[in-house]
Amino acid sequence: MSQWILGIDLGTVNSCVAVVKDGRAVMLSDDSRTTIPSCLAFQRGQEIVGHAAKRHGVTDPQNTISAAKRLLGHSFDSPEVQDALERTSYPIRPSPLGSVLIEVDGRELTPIQVSASILQRLREVAELALEEPATKAVISVPAHFTDVQRKATKLAGEYAGLEVLRLINEPTAAAFAYGYRKATDFKLAVYDLGGGTFDITVMTAEGDCFRVDATDGDSYLGGEDFDNAILEWLIEEFKSEHGHDPSGDESARGRLIEAAEKAKIELSELEETQIELPFITQLPDQSRPNFSRVLTRQKLSALTQPLIQRTLELCGNCLEAAGIISEDLDEVLLVGGQSRMVAVRDAVREFFGKEPRRDINPDEVVAMGAALFGYSLSADDFKLEEQAAAAEAYALARQDTAIARKLLNEVEKLRADSIDDDALAERLETLLEETEADGTSGRMDDIELEPPPDDELSGAVDSLRDELMQLRGKAGAVMSGISEELSDELADEITRNEQAEAPKDSTIDRAAQRLNERLESAVEASESARTHLEKADQHGSARKVKLTDVASHALGIASVSDLFTVLIDKNVPIPVAKERIFTTNQDNQTEVAIRVFQGVAERASENQFLGEFVLEGIPPAARMEPKIEVTFRIDEDGILSVQARDTRSGLKQGIRVEDPLQLQQPAGGEAEKEPSSPPAD
Ligand code: AMP
Repeated sequence: MSQWILGIDLGTVNSCVAVVKDGRAVMLSDDSRTTIPSCLAFQRGQEIVGHAAKRHGVTDPQNTISAAKRLLGHSFDSPEVQDALERTSYPIRPSPLGSVLIEVDGRELTPIQVSASILQRLREVAELALEEPATKAVISVPAHFTDVQRKATKLAGEYAGLEVLRLINEPTAAAFAYGYRKATDFKLAVYDLGGGTFDITVMTAEGDCFRVDATDGDSYLGGEDFDNAILEWLIEEFKSEHGHDPSGDESARGRLIEAAEKAKIELSELEETQIELPFITQLPDQSRPNFSRVLTRQKLSALTQPLIQRTLELCGNCLEAAGIISEDLDEVLLVGGQSRMVAVRDAVREFFGKEPRRDINPDEVVAMGAALFGYSLSADDFKLEEQAAAAEAYALARQDTAIARKLLNEVEKLRADSIDDDALAERLETLLEETEADGTSGRMDDIELEPPPDDELSGAVDSLRDELMQLRGKAGAVMSGISEELSDELADEITRNEQAEAPKDSTIDRAAQRLNERLESAVEASESARTHLEKADQHGSARKVKLTDVASHALGIASVSDLFTVLIDKNVPIPVAKERIFTTNQDNQTEVAIRVFQGVAERASENQFLGEFVLEGIPPAARMEPKIEVTFRIDEDGILSVQARDTRSGLKQGIRVEDPLQLQQPAGGEAEKEPSSPPAD
């Protein structure tokens, strides 16, 4: 069974995959590029993903899906999707259930399906590089990802044929990659500015415990916004030069946005860069002008200042939530491709008052951390698997050794009997048949194949190997002795009788060959047992880190009058379970609607709706009498389940929004069914 656990960074713009090999995290790639664009397109009806899809997007943007992560787990009406409608070049429309459908190449795809295709591609890249199947994965998600977005990511992993062992928050994964090999305690901030999202996280490592102290972020702030800021400027420049808005021309827009991103990336190395776009678009007079502009670092910084300032605001909130000031931090890590921008680095340095770390590749650190986390989670299982494989190989080695020993003993006995040559040949023949049968039946009656306990296995393998060495030497001497004797006699016989055949010689050769085969197989199996034991040791010494993350959002339910009651506060450590008692607000009310939201607004309807269910069959009683216990539980993946129980009847109902495609906005208008808080005692 393959033991690889893929660490996958499923990014808005780029994605990548890593594994732990010999205790170290390594990136996997199908060529020399370790990241692939998170793009999907269709070319002559064939799905293409990654670099090829991104290239395709330059000429056919309407049929190329990029940044689908921004749509993942959102309803069509959500502000995020409405905002995306303005920017995406491919058509998006609502499904009958209110979720998002993307239309490309005459097909309809959900954001989950797009993510699944990208994950599938990463899996292929990994399997090609490893030359083995790899089906287990830890996938990273932005820290502020909502419950539905997390479920959607997990589902995409399952569609891609992956067993998703865990979701890990991207900044946590980065901190893991940084701190896994560190012996000292530390406190750090991870500033993660990717293609589509921003997260800031404060973490503490104490011994083998990694703890997230606080996290904050914005799911709609990333590199693409920087590209768009440049795009807007280019459009304005074009308009003032030619009096014509080029943004209606999809192809021109695609080229402008590509040029904007390219220029932005170049400015991380250069002070200024030239943007050249020949024959960019057709003007009303049918001409196709060339368009060129110089973009300087300074201009880029000015264009994107509001975006950078917004990230710093969130950094301030996060430090406050963690109850620290920037001087308390040992390190600041920069993660995400967009953090390479010079003005971003400068702003981070100034804000935190220390040089942010640049020695870790911001594009790869998250996948590496996810892989290390998966490895740390599974090292004990790997150790057990290797031990079992070692015990199996040891049993094989013992069986082969026993057969070889028996064969050798019998041959020696025959030799001691000094019977005549024909009889010797005949008995050797019978003996070979017997040992053959022992070998194929897989068992020898007279040996104990039960392997020794794990802690004695290593010693047992070593003594077996010693025994094998001796047996090999002895077998060599005995067999060549017999062979010589027989050859001499045979030579005499041939001299006496020209017709003499050579049955004895070939019989002894076969016996020697059989003996050798058994011994070689025993040596091979004992070597394999040794290798498995060494791997078991290696896994056994892997650092097992305990990771505590926090809830990235406040979660609660709507009670009467659209009042939002929080059950789980933002930044509480997870996994966590919290209960609260609610009651009915009408006499003889037999059902209550539990509507779950996330957010901090006092009015429930201003928060993000996550799901709802109705607890029915409450025995009739006066208002405020029933006691309905609502329990919120967040698991290690940050996924929420909610349960309501009528404490008198024991009646229970629960939800886990398993399939976010079913996502719907709350029906509303049923306020009388919502629970209320019981009167204070
Ligand atoms: P990620 O989601 O972490 O892969 O980040 C991708 C984003 O980083 C994209 O918006 C890229 O344009 C941006 N990016 C990548 N490299 C650079 C660079 N050298 N300078 C500025 N932005 C970059």
